[in-house]
Amino acid sequence: MKFEQYNISSEIKESLEEMGFKKPTDIQFKAIPSILNGDDVMAIAQTGTGKTAAFAIPILHRLQKEDRRYRKDKYEVKCLVMVPTRELAIQIAEVFQSIAQYTDLSILALVGGVDQGPQIKVLEKGVDVLIATPGRMFDQINQGHIDLSQVSTLVLDEADHMLDLGFIRDIRDVIKHIPREHQTLFFSATLNKDIKDLAYSVVNNPIRIQI
Ligand code: AMP
Repeated sequence: MKFEQYNISSEIKESLEEMGFKKPTDIQFKAIPSILNGDDVMAIAQTGTGKTAAFAIPILHRLQKEDRRYRKDKYEVKCLVMVPTRELAIQIAEVFQSIAQYTDLSILALVGGVDQGPQIKVLEKGVDVLIATPGRMFDQINQGHIDLSQVSTLVLDEADHMLDLGFIRDIRDVIKHIPREHQTLFFSATLNKDIKDLAYSVVNNPIRIQI
C-alpha cells in the first residue's frame, strides 16, 4: 500500500511525496485508517517509528474537510497535542507544518523561553493545531489566551514521559476545558499500570495498536 492509494487530500499527498514518504510505516499503516474513521486510538510505539506522521496525516486531512465557515474565530483551536518537552513540541510542529504546507491550516508550537508576543499574535488569528506541554497549555488557558471549546481531537504523545515529569494534573486540568465529545489519540513508548490508568481514563473504546 502506498500513500497514493490512501483516502487523503491531494495537498497532503503532494507534501508527502516532497518529503520522500512513499509508503506508510507499520504504525502509520495501522493507525491512519482508524484515525480517519474518527476512532480513539491507544498506541504503544517508540520514537523513530514514524508515529508523528501517523497522527499528523489523518488529523490534517480531517481538518481540511471540516466546514471552514465556523473556523478561524478568535483563539479557536481544533486539535490539541500535548507533549512532555518544548523540543518535542517544536519537532512535532515541524512535521505538521511540512505535511500541511499546501493547505491553509495553521499550526503553532506554544513554547516558553521565547518572546510570547509573536505566539500570542498567531493564536489570535486562530490556530487549527496547537502543540504544547500541559503546563504551558494550562498557563495560557488561565491567562485567557486559548479557547478550547471547539477542540475535536486531543493527542497525548509520549504519555509515559509526561507522567514521569509529573504532568498528570495539568493534563487532567486541560482536558476539563475541551468538549466532552472528542477524539483522543494516546501514544506511549511503554506501558505500565499508571500509564494504563491514565489511558483508560481518557480514551473511549480505543483501537489498540502495538508496534
Ligand atoms: P518519528 O517516529 O515520528 O519521530 O519519525 C521518525 C523518522 O521517520 C522521521 O525522520 C520521519 O521523517 C521519518 N518518516 C516517518 N514516516 C515516514 C515514511 N512513511 N516514509 C519515510 N520516512 C518516514
